[in-house]
Amino acid sequence: MSYVEFDEFKDMANPQLELGMKFSSFKTFKLACRNWGIQNRRQIRFTTNDMKRCICKCQRFKSSNCEFRIFASHVGKDDSTVQIKSINLTHSCTKVNKNYHVTSDWLAEKYIEQFRVDPNWSVSGIIQRVKDDLKFEISRMKAWRAKKKAMEMMNGDEKSQYLKLHSYALELLKTNPGTTVKMTQHLGVFQGIYICLAPLKNAFNSGCRPLISLDGCWLKGQYKGHYFNCR
Ligand SMILES: [Zn+2]
Repeated sequence: MSYVEFDEFKDMANPQLELGMKFSSFKTFKLACRNWGIQNRRQIRFTTNDMKRCICKCQRFKSSNCEFRIFASHVGKDDSTVQIKSINLTHSCTKVNKNYHVTSDWLAEKYIEQFRVDPNWSVSGIIQRVKDDLKFEISRMKAWRAKKKAMEMMNGDEKSQYLKLHSYALELLKTNPGTTVKMTQHLGVFQGIYICLAPLKNAFNSGCRPLISLDGCWLKGQYKGHYFNCR
């Protein structure tokens, strides 16, 4: 009998857990359980958690006699794949309004694209969005920390991208002979880059009217600046 393999890139946002499902590691399995708890407004916890097996139960398994339980272990002695060996997803307890697995790190990662689009997203806006999407209440401090972490993640991205500019310029020149790339700097600090790709240059010279119009925009993010392109 073949069992479903959990795809951590596709399935993690809203895990559908089932008997026999396979995971690449205990770490992935636990993350999937946490996300299942968040999506279903349940507080889960791991009562057994070692290198051989992992048992996930409801936080209220004692106080409410809730029988929710997922047991996972390795597929076999020579196979480190983790598999759900028994599962009962039914809760006899009520849903929760807070979940300690909704951390500021988790929020920063979940809403990173929203932070990218709107770096000025307000703390009260974040709180309301979490309430609308997940029905959870989070504190102002948690929302603020999530925003701070998301900004750090994005700024880190931006810095690493600027560091790749020189390699990018060399690659453009190598793969597009005839291309013009000029980079300017002042005291070792990047000031700007001009790129004219060879196919566009050739097409313009061979058939276009001698008219150039420019379009531009402000660059948001950590380093600001302007971006112009020829139309
Ligand atoms: Zn429960």
